[in-house]
Amino acid sequence: MSMATEIHWKKCGEEAVQILSELLQIDTTNPPGNERPAAEYLQKFLKKEGIPSEVLEREAGRSNLLARLKGSKPGPKLLLLSHTDVVPATNPKNWKYPPFSGAVKEGYVWGRGALDMKSMTAMEAVTFALFKRMNLDFAGELIFLAVADEEKGGNYGAAWLAEAHRDKVKAEYVINEGGGMPLEANGKVFYTIETIEKGLWWARVKVKGTAGHGSMPHDDNPLVKSARLIDRIAQHKFPKMIAPSLRTFFEKISTALGSQGGKAIQAILADGKEVDLKSLLVGTPINSYMANAFIRTTCSPNMIQAGLKENVIPDACEFVLDCRFVPGFSRKEIEETLQSIAKDLGIEVEIETLQFHDVSESPSNTDLYKIIEETVREELPGADGVPYLMTGATDSRFLREIGSIAYGFQPLSTKMSLAERSKLIHNDNERIDVHSLELGVKLLSKIAMKTLKARA
Ligand SMILES: [Zn+2]
Repeated sequence: MSMATEIHWKKCGEEAVQILSELLQIDTTNPPGNERPAAEYLQKFLKKEGIPSEVLEREAGRSNLLARLKGSKPGPKLLLLSHTDVVPATNPKNWKYPPFSGAVKEGYVWGRGALDMKSMTAMEAVTFALFKRMNLDFAGELIFLAVADEEKGGNYGAAWLAEAHRDKVKAEYVINEGGGMPLEANGKVFYTIETIEKGLWWARVKVKGTAGHGSMPHDDNPLVKSARLIDRIAQHKFPKMIAPSLRTFFEKISTALGSQGGKAIQAILADGKEVDLKSLLVGTPINSYMANAFIRTTCSPNMIQAGLKENVIPDACEFVLDCRFVPGFSRKEIEETLQSIAKDLGIEVEIETLQFHDVSESPSNTDLYKIIEETVREELPGADGVPYLMTGATDSRFLREIGSIAYGFQPLSTKMSLAERSKLIHNDNERIDVHSLELGVKLLSKIAMKTLKARA
């Protein structure tokens, strides 16, 4: 594509840095969210470009911003998705630059949301503006959507839009967060393209016991019973089940690693074989916790409540499990497993569902997937794309539910490793290197241009 060479990518990157810095200065901490100023900021930016946009709100202040550019020919719709809300910055004193400063210092843009995910909002805004500025002739539609409320489940954002404004947000293709982080294996760089998100089941487990005086301990203290049960649940290894696209991920990395690390990965892939991930994965880009979460269902006990008084044995204890399941596994199977562990210990439990959603997946044999992978190879010589499983969840699931093919691809540079970057998300000193913004705009623009067959 000849026009791509005429684009001044460095300038586009600087523009994205500026937008990101300004977005970070808008406090959209969720709860309560307060996404309207961010939506208005984006609306103003688009207006300056001559692009009309629409604010959609389920509740005043919880704004979603939607804009679209229509091509001259029929073709697919491509939706560039991001969320503008952020999680709280609980320890502002621990930050080198304040969490809502948007400071551009030391080669980074600093602030809550720099990675998750206002940087993507900025990259997508510039990509979107480029289509208009260059007056591109293209097929289909390019849609820009910056939503509210991702961090609290999407009821004022993507989940609501998918229901209440289905026609407006339904698109053949969606690009969102969840992938795009590079991973290095033996010098070879792999760009992750998120195609699957694990299912989620939050369950409250209630263990009953007999109340009594704390000075006279007995055998039916529900807290003690829960402690034994929780320990067993934490130790439990659900069966290994490797999704086909995750197999591709492991195989590509295994090949790059060569004999030593490659063998470790092959051992993970071998059927029916349990392996000690900790010792095995040393020297590979995947740590044992990641690998474990990739290949099996997990249940993490994250909350517990029992007792009201120092000297009273409580009559009940409740704890909450955060279970994430792999494709091919069901909530029923997890529940049966928990019941059988409890039974084995002679403990009776009541299990209540707090939240549930199924595995969300898009196939990796689509045009968009091929275009993303091909663009990575063209723009970053030596690099390759890999399908990726996300252990957490994103808004992509709501759009997949209404028939979109959605991939997580928020392109980032290799300046930070996957592990370093993961540590900064939802944590102190969240930041993104300036170069990632330029790279992101370039990759997303080229992907959008190819997908919509754009011509200058
Ligand atoms: Zn996010």
